[in-house]
Amino acid sequence: MLKKNKVSWQCDKRAVKQGDDMTQHFDLIAIGGGSGGMAVARRAAEYGMKCVVIESGRLGGTCVNVGCVPKKVMWYAAQLSHALHDAPEYGFDAALTTIDWPQLKLARDGYVERLNKIYARNLENSAVTMIAGHAAFASNNSVAVNGEVYGAEHIVVACGGRPTVPDIPGAEHGITSDGFFELASLPRRVAIVGSGYIAVELAGVLNALGSEVSLLLRRQHLLARFDVMLREELMEQMQDDGIRITTGVSLASIERTDDGTMMLHTDDGEMDGYDTLIWAIGRESKVAGLNLGAAGLSINDAGFIPVDPFQNSVVNGIYAIGDVTGQAALTPVAIAAGRQLADRLFAGKLDAKLDQSNIPSVVFSHPPIGTVGMTEDEAREQFGDDVKVYQSRFVPMYYAITTRKPQSVMKLVTVGATEKVVGCHIIGDGADEILQGFAVAIKMGATKADFDRTLAIHPTSAEELVTMR
Ligand code: FAD
Ligand code: NDP
Repeated sequence: MLKKNKVSWQCDKRAVKQGDDMTQHFDLIAIGGGSGGMAVARRAAEYGMKCVVIESGRLGGTCVNVGCVPKKVMWYAAQLSHALHDAPEYGFDAALTTIDWPQLKLARDGYVERLNKIYARNLENSAVTMIAGHAAFASNNSVAVNGEVYGAEHIVVACGGRPTVPDIPGAEHGITSDGFFELASLPRRVAIVGSGYIAVELAGVLNALGSEVSLLLRRQHLLARFDVMLREELMEQMQDDGIRITTGVSLASIERTDDGTMMLHTDDGEMDGYDTLIWAIGRESKVAGLNLGAAGLSINDAGFIPVDPFQNSVVNGIYAIGDVTGQAALTPVAIAAGRQLADRLFAGKLDAKLDQSNIPSVVFSHPPIGTVGMTEDEAREQFGDDVKVYQSRFVPMYYAITTRKPQSVMKLVTVGATEKVVGCHIIGDGADEILQGFAVAIKMGATKADFDRTLAIHPTSAEELVTMR
């Protein structure tokens, strides 16, 4: 039977006081109202716990405000741009001229604002208190915000991360993914520095919408930890799409020139004429100002709060979830970690913990990538000659009557005599939606024979995954 707590908003003094008169007491405090903090507090409240979420910015955190959500809207816009390009060959009288960026931004921002309100309502419906303000530890069982101190049996650090900006002269002339979502107009000529998810996603969007995009890599590859097939295929297709990719770039400084554009000084030359520079070189934890020392916490060498598989920090009663831990920086990971933690602490599920195996992931590049499980290299390193790989390369039927002929490539990595599928890697249209179901199969331990026994759905791209020989 769920016990509903009294709802309170913005430092509501109705919060129950216990012990020290200056301390308002909760069962659980979540520092951060993003994917992880919202999930842990709402799940704990379902079990009748008195919970508070403290959020210094906008509810929903990175994902809702400057991450997955606005990014996906922009990805859809880019998809439309490609479709408009193909439309005449399908007989439509469609001519793509320009994009009304302010209109797109207005619609996107409006959607995000609606989500902010829905998130606030969700907290209210779950009877979770929300406090707007910056939280800092006051001790190992209390947190200060807006001049008040709040105590709790359980404190969950879910403060997420922020984009890394390199420490080179003139770096401040660049923006990050946060700044990308503030752009009031489509940049004309953009340099994107980085090789990960954000670099390839923003490069694909801007290129499709009409910017001239240069992607600057410090090494030779994109997406370092992905299967080599995905990395090579994406690089080739991005180049075919008109994105200029330069490898081995070591930036020394950035200079704003008299005409307002940017000059990039590298170790072996200069690149100029960019009106926008985007840093997409990774993210770091957002622990500044949390006063971790007051709780006996510290960060590890990589800058994250270390936790054990149950999200326990080194301090009893303090936990960390989501991007601040250095675990896979994905929204479903933060949510699952939060819910599992609440299940363990308040529902007697003593073994509940985040399952970090076979985490599926999609890169919303153009074309998109879907990947789950081991790369071919990882499998060969662990299982040697026991690995057998199946691969299919084809032009999806959509392109049968277009001039544009991007290919899709799918790879299954199998192991042992039973050919258990330990990795599935897809690049091409639909990869983003195809992967989820196959991730279930792989999680269940499916073998290649199970894939073969499954009848194809025709005509689709996905059928290639059950017809490989
Ligand atoms: P966050 O969502 O960052 O939430 C942390 C919250 O804590 C923030 O709201 C912050 O304001 C607040 N906070 C910080 N410090 C304090 C403090 N001291 N006091 C009070 N509040 C504080 N993941 C996907 O799965 N799919 C995607 O497509 C995807 N796309 C992304 C695109 C971009 C551009 C970016 C940047 C990220 C993307 N991610 C995506 C990653 C995803 O957004 C994060 O993994 C996820 O948001 C992490 O959740 P979290 O709860 O750990 O942190
Ligand atoms: P990533 O970790 O994905 O990639 C950043 C890459 O940039 C590094 O791997 C590194 O690659 C390169 N790099 C690092 N430092 C420098 C430097 N000084 N100069 C040039 N290149 C450098 O980080 P992102 O910022 O792209 O994204 C952060 C995280 O957010 C992702 O890891 C992902 O978990 C999440 N995210 C998820 C998305 C999704 O699910 N679709 C979308 C966006 C983000 P190398 O060593 O090869 O040079």
